[in-house]
Amino acid sequence: MLQTSIAKVLAWLGIIERPQFLVKAAFDMPAPDELMPGQAVIVGPAEKPKWVTFPCPSGCGTPLLLSLNPDRRPRWSVTYDWLGRPSITPSVHRTDGCRCHFWMKRGKVEWCKDNGGILPEN
Ligand SMILES: [Zn+2]
Repeated sequence: MLQTSIAKVLAWLGIIERPQFLVKAAFDMPAPDELMPGQAVIVGPAEKPKWVTFPCPSGCGTPLLLSLNPDRRPRWSVTYDWLGRPSITPSVHRTDGCRCHFWMKRGKVEWCKDNGGILPEN
């Protein structure tokens, strides 16, 4: 995506904070080993995306897969700004593994107080 390149340049110039995550669109689900750190992949047709997948930001790196299907529960919604910085609602709370709990807002991970893992350094 063009926006994500602009975001990288602006961050490199020090105009914006370096985003922790930027979106990438993919028609097909990427394999777990294709997930790149800092990339939130929105999977499916642009008008009706099905999933968002990204490596767990706690540092454990487990691929997280969130359903965007409005007919399923739980479900999330993803929006992104003109720089491709994603916001995900509601928060992501893993009930297994590292048990982390966070919000993703404009490409930035905000840890919740009940985050189960050790808080990573920012
Ligand atoms: Zn984790």
